[in-house]
Amino acid sequence: TYDYIIVGAGNAGLVVANRLTEDPSVSVLVLEAGVSDQGMQNVQIPFLGPTLTPNTPIDWNYTVVPQRGMNNRVYPYPRGKILGGSSSVNYLFHQFGSNDDWNRLASVSGDSGWSWSNIKKYVQKHERIVPPVDGHNTAGQFIPQEHGFKGELPVSLPGFNQSIDPLVIKATSQVPGFPFNEDMAGGDRSLLGVGWLQSSAGGGVRSTSSTSYLANANKRPNLTVLINATVRKLVQTANGKRGAKAFRSVQFSPTPVTGKSGAGGHVITVTARKEVILSAGSVGTPQILQLSGIGNASDLKKLSIPSTINNANVGKHLSDHTFLGNMFSVNSNSTFDHIFRDSSLVNDERQQWVNTKTGIFANNVINNFGFARVANNATIFKSHPDPAAGPQSPHWELIFANMFFSPNMNVSTPDTGNFLTVLLVLVSPTSRGSVTITSNNPFDAPAIDPNMLTTDFDIFAMVDAIKNIKRFVSAPAFKGFVEGPFGAFAQAQTDAEIEAYVRAETTTIFHPTGTASMAKASSNDGVVNPDLTVKGADGLRIVDGSVFPFIPSCHPQGPIYLLAERASDIIKGAK
Ligand code: FAD
Repeated sequence: TYDYIIVGAGNAGLVVANRLTEDPSVSVLVLEAGVSDQGMQNVQIPFLGPTLTPNTPIDWNYTVVPQRGMNNRVYPYPRGKILGGSSSVNYLFHQFGSNDDWNRLASVSGDSGWSWSNIKKYVQKHERIVPPVDGHNTAGQFIPQEHGFKGELPVSLPGFNQSIDPLVIKATSQVPGFPFNEDMAGGDRSLLGVGWLQSSAGGGVRSTSSTSYLANANKRPNLTVLINATVRKLVQTANGKRGAKAFRSVQFSPTPVTGKSGAGGHVITVTARKEVILSAGSVGTPQILQLSGIGNASDLKKLSIPSTINNANVGKHLSDHTFLGNMFSVNSNSTFDHIFRDSSLVNDERQQWVNTKTGIFANNVINNFGFARVANNATIFKSHPDPAAGPQSPHWELIFANMFFSPNMNVSTPDTGNFLTVLLVLVSPTSRGSVTITSNNPFDAPAIDPNMLTTDFDIFAMVDAIKNIKRFVSAPAFKGFVEGPFGAFAQAQTDAEIEAYVRAETTTIFHPTGTASMAKASSNDGVVNPDLTVKGADGLRIVDGSVFPFIPSCHPQGPIYLLAERASDIIKGAK
């Protein structure tokens, strides 16, 4: 037996595994449904991030249910199924979130320990800034005082100059509303403005919770990590404190070979002496809770699952960020468009990466990005409250890609031409969705309904952002380079046309949160208490992206790492 069983060796799970096993007297078992990441070159190469999902063996390969705000379209919903979880398949953007994001979490949960002033110290434990692979002078591209240099996860600035970089940076001084921001991590500084991306990569290689937290803890004899182990459900054990229902046992089975149901595979039960920690992510965690009878009792009854804890909040309040590629054709042949059109170039770049860990493949696809707000005097605010976490927190994000980059699988990449793509992400959405199991078979995918673009604010902000993206790209800096909007984006002129374009083209940037939300201990809302224990349960905690009651207004892996660092301290302090 083990003191702690962690379900999911993902972004958060491996942080907790590392921190708990710092104490040699504590034993930890981690159960992971996915495969090992050892020797996976495409996972290691930062530039190939966007090729790792969807429809690959290291992805859960989920699809959303028809989206009513998006013309009933369906699209893939990637989640990493591999050591490191989604940190092993993501696009490597690394930030901490705005201080408003953390302070809102503190006020919603009633626990000041979640405020930025307390969370800030975990940056030092978590982050290790390393030089970019091209060795360039990074002065003015980030603010060292805001960062950690001795933590677990290597993080770096871009290591390969892209031809659009100087144009983007120049435009920040030419167009009002997009000032240059010297550090895009957030925290004490506003995220608003445009600047240089920090990536979870070091020495030209992707950093994940597996390559850092797990690699650094792996030699400890008190840590056991089992891969290809799918958790089926939690099992109720003897009642715990104040009669609360204890869930210290976990049932798992070997992960079935793709295409097989696996429902009949042999079942192994393990029991934790202290706690079970669910870190299966915003899809896996509510799925396991519901399979264990923790959820809406009447819904579960229909699936022949006996209710253990009746809580209708489980799987609800899913919040995600949109993703929409807006393509401009450009008058240049120095974009990256040619690379994926020519397999010999891909091979050359791969070889350079293998030999020296430099070049295009050693770098993220993206070098520059930024955040902006809907204007304070916008008409929408006459009828809708501002959903941002605070006045310095963004509503939307723009990401600059030096090539044709469409997250929508139905938009095919042209065989010729050169492009600049400005990707739009709605970072303070108000639409909410759900993750709901559809059967009592743990190997059936749950129904995932991000339900995006179903509120007036979300549509208003998307349309407003599109107009502002066009304004940014009309900066003198892009003159002679940008020829004009391309494809469906070019056709969308009026507000109604832009709305139709947004509904027809938008998909997800894969940031689901909120499906096991944190709420005050005294409240009937939410699924977990501020100390991340499951409401009404004993011996059960949740540590992953599912606990954020509001989605951080940035790329969430950084906030999830920091959340897991504090969660580890809370668990260590618990009796
Ligand atoms: P995960 O890291 O997904 O971990 C969950 C783990 O649990 C997985 O390993 C999973 O296999 C395992 N698991 C699930 N169910 C079971 C079960 N039943 N039994 C056993 N194990 C189970 N964020 C950023 O900040 N920057 C980015 O650039 C970025 N790009 C992204 C690109 C993609 C394609 C994706 C998918 C995500 C991206 N994200 C990005 C989001 C970010 O990676 C995730 O929000 C974050 O990693 C989630 O962490 P987590 O710990 O909540 O879950």
